Amino acid sequence: MFNSLPDFEISRYVERSPKSKKFFNQAQKYLPDGVTRGTSYEPYPLFWEKGKSFNIWDLDGIKRLDFFGNNSSLPLGHGNFEVQQSLNKQLKEGVSFNAPHPAHVELAKIICDRIKSVDLVRFTNSGTEATMNCIYASRAYTGRSYIAKVDGAYHGMYDSVAFNSVGKSYFPDKKMELPNMPAELKDTVIIIPYNDSEKSIQIIKDNADKLACVVVEPMLGGSGFIQADLEYLQNLRQVTQDEGILLVFDEICSLRAGYGGAQAYYDVYPDMSAFGKSLGGGFPIGAFGGKREIMDLYKESTSGQHVQHSGSFNGNPMSMVSGVSTFKQLTPDVYKRLDSLTSKLKEGINNIAGEFDIPVQVTGLGSLFALHFNSNPIKRNSDTDFNDKDRTRQVFFGLLNEGIWSSQNLLGAISTPMEEAQIDAYLIALRNVFARNYTSIR
Ligand code: PMP
Repeated sequence: MFNSLPDFEISRYVERSPKSKKFFNQAQKYLPDGVTRGTSYEPYPLFWEKGKSFNIWDLDGIKRLDFFGNNSSLPLGHGNFEVQQSLNKQLKEGVSFNAPHPAHVELAKIICDRIKSVDLVRFTNSGTEATMNCIYASRAYTGRSYIAKVDGAYHGMYDSVAFNSVGKSYFPDKKMELPNMPAELKDTVIIIPYNDSEKSIQIIKDNADKLACVVVEPMLGGSGFIQADLEYLQNLRQVTQDEGILLVFDEICSLRAGYGGAQAYYDVYPDMSAFGKSLGGGFPIGAFGGKREIMDLYKESTSGQHVQHSGSFNGNPMSMVSGVSTFKQLTPDVYKRLDSLTSKLKEGINNIAGEFDIPVQVTGLGSLFALHFNSNPIKRNSDTDFNDKDRTRQVFFGLLNEGIWSSQNLLGAISTPMEEAQIDAYLIALRNVFARNYTSIR
């Protein structure tokens, strides 16, 4: 039950962020919406000044715990010593060359050693390009053109995947998310519902002769860190194998599920995978890889179905050394520690919500977590349509006022410098926000 004005948290936010407000006003003169990625929020976003370890400071000098780490891209937090050392060294030695570099081999080896389904890998500058290449390679390999994707899955924003991504669920309808895309594209993208094996299998079978690939996230990232049911992934594996369709895992977020990515966590392996975010340890990156016979289509010597792949900054040494240094530190023991901190946090959130009789579902794999104010289990994007949006917004601003940064839809990530004290700090902050705004039932 609300027992104070819902906008108290926003007034407090505004009181404490005059410099961000000032910069935002200037920013709007030069950047649409004052931002350069779609992460603005009303009344205006905070501008960040610096980050160190698990802390970030806004322009007004307010320090907060960073429970999001650039959308899960900073598993070691800000300014990790070894990562900085390797970057400083690389900065002196040169930041980009149009030639192979030893760090390409090092990071490629790390991926191929850890990710069981990847024999060969190529680098890109973003996750967007990585999923794009999985689609291109699938088309070349299968000789088919259509793709199937999940309702509520974001794979970047380009023609082949700009249908039913984050936001409201449209399934079984298909919504084009960029204006005036060629109408005929609509037929080439098939939408399947997450964690609904029966419907997904039927749709895939009905379109099998046209489908090059089925692209799926083992954990639906943007729609709220919704983990897949094991049987769903197993069923997709089976039906794609039976129908000669490639199974592509978008592991751009879910790479953080564990040492071998979400595919090792589930023990279900795709034909191709796309990686990004955490792989660069904070620097821009993407990678795609998979079975040798598919990736061999990238060899110049391939005749017929050769897939062209270039990019001025592919494998830029700064991103490469940052990724290598990051992943050397992400050992199985480190993942175990992160998992246990995250379990403690999830349990604490459930307990506190219980104290206030607030319905909450906490989702997420590995060191990623998300709060959904909803009384029903969250299995797919359409379930999040019923999340309490006002409460989500209020708690987001409430947590900011309490010194916690997470995403506007309350997605969060735990970084390696964090300890129990930071988990406790999040829980105390959440309890304070609830206590200020809702009545305890205990
Ligand atoms: N796929 C998923 C699952 C993502 O979460 C993202 C980034 N939000 C992308 C693809 C696109 O990656 P990038 O922003 O690096 O292009």
